[in-house]
Amino acid sequence: MTEKPLDNISLDMPVQFLKGVGPARAAAFEKLGVKTVADLLEYYPRDWYFAPEPVKIEKVKLNQTVTLVGIVESTDFQYWRKPSYFEAYVNDETGSCRIIWFNSKFLQGKIIPGQKLIVWGKIGQYKHQLQLTNPKFVIVEDDEIAADSFSGPVYPASAELSSGQIKRIVRQSLEKIVELVPEFFDAGFLKKSNLAERQKAFKWLHNPEDESQVEKANRRLKYDELFLMQSALALRRYKVRNFSRAAALECTELIDKRIRKRFPFLLTEDQDKVIGEIVSDLAKTVPMNRLLQGDVGSGKTVVALYAALVAVANKMQVAIMAPTEILAEQHFINIERYLKNSDVKRVLITGGITGEKRKEILDDIQSGDTNIIVGTVALLQEDIQFANLALVIIDEQHKFGVHQRAQLRKDATPHCLVMTATPIPRTLAMTAFGDLDISVVKHSPPGRGQIITRCIQPKDLPKAYEFIRERLKAKKQAYFVYPRIVDSENGEVKAAIAEYENLSKNIFPEFNVGLLHGQMAGDNKQKIMDSFRKGKIHCLVSTVLIEVGIDVPNATIMVIEGADRFGLAQLHQLRGRIARSSSKAYCLLVAQTENETAKSRLEIMERSNDGFEIAEHDLKIRGPGELLSSRQHGLPDLKIANIIDDFDLLTLARKDAFELVEKDPMLKSAEHKNIRAELGRKFADSLGLVDVG
Ligand code: ADP
Ligand code: MG
Repeated sequence: MTEKPLDNISLDMPVQFLKGVGPARAAAFEKLGVKTVADLLEYYPRDWYFAPEPVKIEKVKLNQTVTLVGIVESTDFQYWRKPSYFEAYVNDETGSCRIIWFNSKFLQGKIIPGQKLIVWGKIGQYKHQLQLTNPKFVIVEDDEIAADSFSGPVYPASAELSSGQIKRIVRQSLEKIVELVPEFFDAGFLKKSNLAERQKAFKWLHNPEDESQVEKANRRLKYDELFLMQSALALRRYKVRNFSRAAALECTELIDKRIRKRFPFLLTEDQDKVIGEIVSDLAKTVPMNRLLQGDVGSGKTVVALYAALVAVANKMQVAIMAPTEILAEQHFINIERYLKNSDVKRVLITGGITGEKRKEILDDIQSGDTNIIVGTVALLQEDIQFANLALVIIDEQHKFGVHQRAQLRKDATPHCLVMTATPIPRTLAMTAFGDLDISVVKHSPPGRGQIITRCIQPKDLPKAYEFIRERLKAKKQAYFVYPRIVDSENGEVKAAIAEYENLSKNIFPEFNVGLLHGQMAGDNKQKIMDSFRKGKIHCLVSTVLIEVGIDVPNATIMVIEGADRFGLAQLHQLRGRIARSSSKAYCLLVAQTENETAKSRLEIMERSNDGFEIAEHDLKIRGPGELLSSRQHGLPDLKIANIIDDFDLLTLARKDAFELVEKDPMLKSAEHKNIRAELGRKFADSLGLVDVG
């Protein structure tokens, strides 16, 4: 085995050169993601235990909390019992103790006769025998029990490398390794923020004396992880703001007046506030990088159009991008409504426009004749030459597409406004979207009807249909939404096509029922949507397609089947479609589920109409994983901190990080050298931070 003297140890040295690690173990470590000494240091335990001093079995008393050390004599899995339990007898030469673990089938093959076991818990009794119930335990791998066997970390292990082995390897070199760990902050700051020293934190993480050291270690290391992430975001933001320039777009009183005349209503207080924020951004040469969030129907499009018209008034071009053609068309129709008789030149580009016509459109864009260009994100990212693109507006509906932001920034640096109808919970606003400015339209325009949401079971449907029939007779319209277009193989999930047949033939034969789904041809879809808009179709059966782009105030009923298959944010989004007039609207969530979590999840929809509240709930239930994957924010995933559980720490770290970057934007000063080096090590690839200074 190659073994360097420990004096030469360094953080980027392969673990193979550590005491107790040869090529085989190094390979096993690599499978766990540990290549270097630094990786090992950051290999976080999944748990810690602190067993009391062991006592001999003959000495134990009833109800005493004790640690026993003994040999496993026999084991059995009592699977026919209810609840089932795993049973073991442990003997320490002074006596024997029965141990049971309920519902622990996984212990089969894990705890086996002949093993040495450390167990600790409260002594009970079973038919005159001593018994421990559900005690914590450690399997001793060596014959000899070291003094440190009774406490320490439990590491995520593999078949080739047990937690105990990792523990021993880490311990052997810990003192030396920890000495290499750089500190980021001065003593005053640490004290003020109630943070342990970084070297101590690592020592306590891997070799704590008690629970409080574990706690302190975790607090410090979680803080560091969040702080580094936030610093990276702050730097990215600084770079965008200071190394690229946008056209300054002025909004004079006259311009403001002329734009407002376009709207047949007064703007709401929220709209005015948000427009103020945008106008002040546009006036600067720092490119705007703003997220505009607000529920469906809250009036974002109007705000976006205002911003677009400011650019047009400054003789510059605007691109409005939507995720789908349907939505792009919808935007275009909306814009047309407001721009009737205006000489603003606007165009909708779709995939269907080809040949001469397309060439003409592209020429007009390139010459600068066209002011507002509407299309899908995909289309507008193709090779369209703009004469003077000053503002890009991206409607994400409910998707968060941070890549697209990044891509757009490559060539020119237009101002950028991203609209999203999914309220972004505070936690995500601080992380995935941490480098954006955020504007919120909280309150919808007045005169919106209330939505009454009810969760029902499939067996309640006949009653629901009668209720709906009454509304249809009163000339209202309804949506029926299904999770799928066609049946799944097992027929568990109701599907749009089959239910369309059922609803049109059996349930509502006296009304017109229409079908709309993603696999239909474009003009066919358009025809169906037009008929629904004109009221010729009374019931529209659909997949989630209607989520984007349909705006029919008279439709005030929505039935969502298989509701448990949708995310809460998505359900909220969907039902937003029926709050487009002053009438009361009804949303029925149909789900066949006995699962309590699923039920209580849906019941949130009955209780709350607040998109933010719903999004926070959704995040708590599903975890940030999907929303906060590195795909979304372009940063490596967090290893120890959790943005929901550690929200307070996140808030603190964010404040500190942004203050730091404000004070020393390039992290040039000597006191920030270590932070800078660590950021380089962690984020160089993902953020392109290498060139920061
Ligand atoms: P969003 O884009 O947020 O879904 P829109 O901008 O499309 O919302 O507005 C939804 C509906 O509300 C549209 O029919 C629009 O004409 C109307 N609207 C928007 N702002 C106002 C306002 N200030 N007063 C009255 N109606 C408004
Ligand atoms: Mg809209």
